[in-house]
Amino acid sequence: MTIIIFGAPGCGKGTQSALIVDKYHLKHISTGDILRAEMQNATPLGLRAKHFVESGQLVPDDLILDMLMKAMDCDGNTYNGCLLDGFPRTTAQAEALEKLLLERKQQTNVLIDLEVNDDELVRRMIQRGIETGRTDDKPETIRKRLDVFHSQTVPVRDFYQSLDKYVYIDGTESIETVFEHICKEIELHL
Ligand code: AMP
Repeated sequence: MTIIIFGAPGCGKGTQSALIVDKYHLKHISTGDILRAEMQNATPLGLRAKHFVESGQLVPDDLILDMLMKAMDCDGNTYNGCLLDGFPRTTAQAEALEKLLLERKQQTNVLIDLEVNDDELVRRMIQRGIETGRTDDKPETIRKRLDVFHSQTVPVRDFYQSLDKYVYIDGTESIETVFEHICKEIELHL
């Protein structure tokens, strides 16, 4: 089982991911979280990614794909599959993912798109920056990340729409309501 949780930065992917992996026993693969850990530990990958993450740009696809392949080698006895959070962020990443899954005779079950308007996204990220000190949650980087989302990541929607694996959910409702809608969709796509 492979579920993708998709949406702009600040849309609630992280919050919903924690609930989803708990309920469906999935391995949570957040490319952002992996990159932040690599940066914190100053690994070669972390050092290469730092400039991109801190300036709100996407980390190059080759670095991300290598990282993802390692993360997806998960223990089938422990998990029912993977929840991808923050990946894919470009059409090239989506194509590479589906190719990788096909080689394993698998495919993505569904991409769940959490839609939140830009004003609310900015409000949430500023708040998160204050609460967590996350260095890319500051106004100029937030603007850059939203530009990157609209120009490079939004086309991923069309890719999954064309595969008939796309679902839209209003991400401005309460955490509980959004989670209920997500569960309904996951169960329709098992
Ligand atoms: P996130 O925590 O998902 O908002 O990701 C934080 C930052 O990590 C992004 O702004 C990018 O710089 C980088 N990043 C995370 N996932 C990806 C990805 N799939 N492709 C490229 N860059 C990524």
